Amino acid sequence: MRTATVTINPQAMTHNLMQVKKRAPNAKVLAMVKANAYGHGVAAVLPALVLADAIGVASFTEALEARHLGWDKAIGLVEGVFSADEWQQAIDNGCSCVIHHAPQLEWALECIPAVDSPVRTVWLKYNTGMNRLGFDEQGVVSAAKRLHGAGYALILTTHFANADDREHPLTSTQIQRFNDIFAILQRDVDKNIKASLCNSAGIVNYPDSHCDWVRPGIMLYGSSPVTDQSASELNLQAVMDFSAQIMAFQTVKQGATIGYGSRWSAEEDTRTALVSVGYGDGYPRVVNNDAHVNVVDALTKDSYTCPVIGRVAMDMLVIDVSSTPIDLALDSEVILWGAALPVDDVAQHAGTISYELLCRLSNRPLRVIV
Ligand SMILES: *Cc1c(COP(=O)(O)O)cnc(C)c1O
Repeated sequence: MRTATVTINPQAMTHNLMQVKKRAPNAKVLAMVKANAYGHGVAAVLPALVLADAIGVASFTEALEARHLGWDKAIGLVEGVFSADEWQQAIDNGCSCVIHHAPQLEWALECIPAVDSPVRTVWLKYNTGMNRLGFDEQGVVSAAKRLHGAGYALILTTHFANADDREHPLTSTQIQRFNDIFAILQRDVDKNIKASLCNSAGIVNYPDSHCDWVRPGIMLYGSSPVTDQSASELNLQAVMDFSAQIMAFQTVKQGATIGYGSRWSAEEDTRTALVSVGYGDGYPRVVNNDAHVNVVDALTKDSYTCPVIGRVAMDMLVIDVSSTPIDLALDSEVILWGAALPVDDVAQHAGTISYELLCRLSNRPLRVIV
């Protein structure tokens, strides 16, 4: 049987959540599970998040899925609702919403949830420099006044554009802008207003800005959110192992080429193996010459680093197994990323970030939860 396999280890996620709590002991945790839990599968990860205070999703559909899976704690809609209708549905399903532009503000003021509803607390988004979602300086003060006047509790929130890079000057500007407005709102509008700035990178790089709520995503999945420290240096554990198996061996003669576009040619006779995984499963089609996999000898369990050669195809890729024993077993496991091979490394070889590789996995691999 073809066995490209995604294995999810919820214990690793619980471990990573504890790392978040250790770094931000006084903050509540909104654990981000948007995009099907960064490709891991919401159902697989929710049980590992019972100690989170809330989960965050991008859409109401994702919120409903989590509710159907039995998540009964708070859910935050980080893009808020898209219509007055959806605002009503958010109230019916107890989803806390971001309010980031005028129409959402009007929907919230037209239809006010009950005093004990979680929807009675709103996340008011202030644009401090990302320039995607959020009110500007004047807009946020007036929105806060109107919401507070209507009985809403407020969490002022913003999102960093460059928190992964400790040296980037925009982050301190964003923090300054945030703190200025926060002080004004606290003084003039609502002395109990709460604050939330940090995604994973902010949690690691800006401990003074943890405030009331942190919003970790990628670090919960065991990938590094920052440019200058690896996941293992941050004591994070990979939640996903992505693996396949060797399906056949070949010896490619000197001068012969491999695969579509014949972009790799053998400088000498080369032992190669075909691996039953490709971009149809979610392995990136374009990788550079440093891309490699780990082959685990089915007999000895020894592990070998083997370069990916030739163009990755839809259903298979080719690796150079020159460094492995000559009697390497067919069916030997090939690790594409996971605990033994950081997804951050593969992302770098593919010119992207771990987030994209994880989210882009297809439905084809077998899914296993350990
Ligand atoms: C996705 C998201 C996060 C989590 O970001 P990571 O970089 O994965 O930690 C935090 N806040 C908001 C608003 C988000 O959309």
